[in-house]
Amino acid sequence: GAGQLSTRYGKIEDMVVGVDVVHADGTRATYGDYARAAVGPDLRQLFIGSEGTLGVIVSARLRVHPLPEYARALAYGFDTFAEGLDACRAILQRGATPAVLRLYDKLESGTHFGHPDTNLLLIADEGDAAVVDASMDVAAAVCSAHGPELDSEAVFARWLDERMLVGKSSDGFTPGPGFVADTLEMAASWRDLPAVYDEVVAAVEAVPGTLAASAHQSHAYTDGACVYFSLRGEVAPEDRRTWYRAVWDAANAVLVAHRAALSHHHGCGLLRGPYVADSLGAGFATFGAVKAALDPAGILNPGKLGLSSRFGTPPLS
Ligand SMILES: Cc1cc2nc3c(=O)[nH]c(=O)nc-3n(C[C@H](O)[C@H](O)[C@H](O)COP(=O)(O)OP(=O)(O)OC[C@H]3O[C@@H](n4cnc5c(N)ncnc54)[C@H](O)[C@@H]3O)c2cc1C
Repeated sequence: GAGQLSTRYGKIEDMVVGVDVVHADGTRATYGDYARAAVGPDLRQLFIGSEGTLGVIVSARLRVHPLPEYARALAYGFDTFAEGLDACRAILQRGATPAVLRLYDKLESGTHFGHPDTNLLLIADEGDAAVVDASMDVAAAVCSAHGPELDSEAVFARWLDERMLVGKSSDGFTPGPGFVADTLEMAASWRDLPAVYDEVVAAVEAVPGTLAASAHQSHAYTDGACVYFSLRGEVAPEDRRTWYRAVWDAANAVLVAHRAALSHHHGCGLLRGPYVADSLGAGFATFGAVKAALDPAGILNPGKLGLSSRFGTPPLS
């Protein structure tokens, strides 16, 4: 998983120091509990994100941080989503790590913040005042070249108020009986993200029944980012399942073609299972071999992550 402040605090694999795992044969082992190690591969990471397919995590030790003493927020607008992505890249590559760095395309800037004519970038940070001020100075220097600061405090206040609301992807649409909305998040390099954004939106909107696809960049790194798409369709109620799988097929075909990560933080479960082998390529056999070694009877979460199941074809395949 990845929290909304992950650009400062990291994703779950950055936070887990150690785990205790019960294996399929009932044995138990502790993995990790060091700041860093060079004793073979990091077996702790084998279990983080394995979605219960390799063992059951029965306890975990997590890194924590002091409560923040200081916080600031800024908002800027960009003519194109690609220009906004490039600004995010520049901020990260200059060494700033603002806790929140979220870039919304025009549709979402309109529905979430009332700024439909721009691609809105929200930057917010918290923690030690000197570090926060330095991060925000870097962000302001990068963004001000593209235009004046927006109504930052109002944008930030609205984000704080609404960030936990479920169903944001339906905002701006009037759901009828055949309305379907969902989200699909992924990750790719800064180089590939502008094309991935354009192609996923085009592929989803080419599926009959789609109302609109949109996205925001939600979690950023020096080398790439997560883009979180929202998908909406309106079809005959009995066609909802067909439309839903068609848009997931269309979007994931783009991700596989770009060798993007199918998911940045939601995981794969059953829904993304059909795309995992294509995404991992020859590496999928390695994953299968690890699964066979750790769970020879196939009893741990069968069918998740695209792995075969002795109990038959998994649902949603
Ligand atoms: C409204 C909404 C908002 C969300 N927002 C975010 C977000 O901001 N960031 C984010 O990262 N994710 C987000 N998610 C996705 C969320 O991270 C996943 O749904 C996550 O897997 C939830 O964990 P859970 O334990 O509740 O689910 P579960 O379905 O119980 O578990 C998920 C998987 O892990 C396995 N599992 C559970 N416990 C263990 C264990 N002890 N050992 C081994 N395997 C285990 C389960 O078998 C299952 O396959 C959101 C989901 C929803 C519905």
